[in-house]
This record gives sequence, structure tokens and C-alpha cells, in this order.
Amino acid sequence: MEEKFSKTVRELIEMSKAHERYRSEECINLIASEGLKSPAVKEMVARSQDLESRYAEGENDQEGHVKQRHYQGQKYITKIENCVADLMKSVFGCNWIDVRLVSGTHANLATFKGLSLATKNNKMVVAPLRCGAHISHDYTGLAGSVIGLETVNHVYDLNELNIDPEKSATIIEATRPGIVTFGGSLFQFPHPVKELAEVSKEAGAYVVYDAAHVLGLIAGGQFQDPFKEGADFITASTHKTYPGPQGGVILANSGDERMRKATKRVQNAVFPLTTSNTHLGRLPALGLVALEMKLYGAELAKQTVSNAQTAGEYLSENGLKVLGEKRGFTRSHQIAVDVQNYGGGRKVAEDLEEANIILNKNLLPYDDQHNRENPSGLRVGFQDVTRRGFKESDIHDLCDLMLDVVKEKRKAADVGKDVLTLRQNFKEIKYGFGSIEEVMNYLEKYA
Ligand SMILES: *Cc1c(COP(=O)(O)O)cnc(C)c1O
Repeated sequence: MEEKFSKTVRELIEMSKAHERYRSEECINLIASEGLKSPAVKEMVARSQDLESRYAEGENDQEGHVKQRHYQGQKYITKIENCVADLMKSVFGCNWIDVRLVSGTHANLATFKGLSLATKNNKMVVAPLRCGAHISHDYTGLAGSVIGLETVNHVYDLNELNIDPEKSATIIEATRPGIVTFGGSLFQFPHPVKELAEVSKEAGAYVVYDAAHVLGLIAGGQFQDPFKEGADFITASTHKTYPGPQGGVILANSGDERMRKATKRVQNAVFPLTTSNTHLGRLPALGLVALEMKLYGAELAKQTVSNAQTAGEYLSENGLKVLGEKRGFTRSHQIAVDVQNYGGGRKVAEDLEEANIILNKNLLPYDDQHNRENPSGLRVGFQDVTRRGFKESDIHDLCDLMLDVVKEKRKAADVGKDVLTLRQNFKEIKYGFGSIEEVMNYLEKYA
């Protein structure tokens, strides 16, 4: 073996170890899309190593259960998939699900493709990218460049930081799309699903709600309930505010002919159109999160939103421009901060990184869409610190450290030491189980 090759293997092993310590012990994570798994859920991932090498290609039925699998060796895999489907359906109060998606983008791919086939209509109405839509919704991303959908934008109201329901209704009526999509990546306030679901359906569209960011908040009943408001499908990641292993999910209420036609097309778009292996090793852990959400989801979501609102208020009182002030800054796990006057999103995010505070720069709704390299804003998420036990006063401490960096009151490296000290006070992960054994003991009382 060449010396260079062996050196690279050593580097690989050392860097992996260093990463685990760096991001899970030596930083405070405020990236809004990154969830934090409980020790029990991590243990479940570690216990699923054989599953992680298996295949389970095949068809599902109208309950989202396994109907037919094409490989042998499936007797437990089938049960596992069905359990996960049932547990998650119970959390979200719906009767149809697909748990085979490997990511939120994959969930959108299968849903958008399936629905465009079901409607024979390739038009979709969706929020503009700079107003928080995900790249997978956009004509420059998955929706347009991969699936070939023609996207038309909702009208966005900069004052309300939300989709304008009246003006978007006009757009939907004029466009007559096959799909109307809600939800986003920069997502502080519930979208007007209730106001627009009926108009969308009358125009012949299916209503899709992309809950990638807010699935955990919905599970905890602390954000809008898209099904109650009229959404036909929810697509999501399973690892943002929903604190599971990385993956995706599609949920729906099926029943009438209109929905049966759609769910069949979506299932077909999942398999065989867009998957072969479905990353089975994540499934037991995903199912376990459903239990944690039933027990702790409401409390976790409530504290997460409260922490985000607290940060918005505190940063704003201390001179930063936090978006959405008149509406209390946020109703979700995230806030958006305009740091144009402090050197822009890119500089500030890099300075905070030097102080061991990890977050991302973000386009704000009034930014030029092409300025993604140096947008005005930061997106700040509080789901990770909340699960570590941060309460309002801890959020104030954290914001003080952020303000020191943003306003350049102290050297970022010096602030970084205080960040580490603060981080050391939060070694446990709350709102979940410490081990599978703890789960089994808990279940005893229902035996
Ligand atoms: C993160 C995100 C996705 C993509 O999810 P992945 O699991 O990262 O593929 C899709 N939609 C929205 C709104 C998102 O924020």
C-alpha cells in the first residue's frame, strides 16, 4: 500500500473521532434543521446494524402497510416497517403513511412526481425561494430541474412574513395547478393552509404541506395542524424538530377516490420510481421517536418555541434586527436576524463559528435571490439547545455571548471559552429515554 493511502485512512479515522467530539460536545448548535436524538434512539440506531445492510423492495397497501416484498428474509423487516407506520400514524392522527423515504427531499420528489402523474398537470404553486421555500420546491431545484414542474409563486407579504392568502387565492385560481405547496425552511409563522385549501382543491390541486422543519412541533401540537386545516399530504424530514434518525416520511388521510388515486401514484413514485434500498437501519429508531413524541412532544415543542421567542425578544431589545417583531418574532423553533449592519450573514456566521456557536447564514425575504453567498441574515434554531435543557434564562446567557461576537465587544476566541463553559452545564438530553432498557421498564406498566 502507498504511504499516502495509509495516511489518508488514519486521517479518516482521526477526523471522524474529532468531529464527534467537536459538534456534540464542544459547540452549541443553533442550526435550525439539525435535531438531537435521545440516548435511547441512538442506541436503537446502533442496534440495527444488520437491518442497515438489507433490502425490502416492494409494494404497500392503502394503510401504508407492507403488501408485498420481492426479496426473501423479510419476516421481521415487514413487522418492523408496519410498527413504525402505525406508531407514526397514531402520533399524527392519519390513516396513510410511507416511511420508506431516505430524506425530506426524497419525500418531496415522490410526492410531487406522484401527484403530477395523478393530475396530469405539471403546474405547482409554491412560496418563493427567498421567502423560505426549500430548493426542492423551486424551478431551479428538484421541482423544476428534476421533475419538470412549472412553478408559480404564492404572493408573499413582507410585512406579515407570510403568504398573502387573498392574493395567492387569485394566483391559484388563475394557474389551476395540480399541486399547491406550503411550508418552508425559513419558517417562523404558520402558513395560511386553512384559507387556501378549499380554493386549491376547487382549482383541481392537491394540497401538500412540507413539514420538514416543523414536524416535531406539529407532533407536540404547538404549530398549525396541516390536516385539520385541509392539507392532503404532509411531507417531512424525520431529523429536524422531529428528533429521529435522518430520513423522510409522507403522511396523508386516504379514503375517498380522489385520495386513493393520489396515494397509489405516490407509492408508485416511492417504489419503483425513486428507490431501491430504503435505508432500513433507521426504522426502529424512527418508531421509538413516536413514543417520545407521545410522552414528551408537547412539553418539548412548547419549550422550544418559548426559547426561540425569548431569543428574538432579547436580541431585539439589545439592538439587533430580528424579523417579525410585531408578531412576537416567531411561532416555531427558529428566528431570522438581519445582520447587514454587522458585516452580513456570512461574516457573522463565521465569527460565531470561531466562538463555537454554530448556525447558518440565510437569505431574508427581501434579499436578492442571487445573493446566497452573502445574504443579510442568520437563521437561528432552538430545538437542539432546548432538548439539552436550556430554559429562558439560559437563552439570555447564550444571547449575551452571541451579542459579544456580533457587536465585536470581545474576541471571538475568548467568547468561545465561555461558550464551552456554558455548554458543560447541559450534559444530559431531556424529553426522551436514556436507554432501551428504560423504555422497556416504562412499558412494563402497560404489560
Ligand atoms: C430540509 C428541508 C427539506 C429537505 O430535507 P432533507 O431531509 O434534508 O432532504 C425539504 N423541505 C424543507 C422545507 C426543508 O427545510
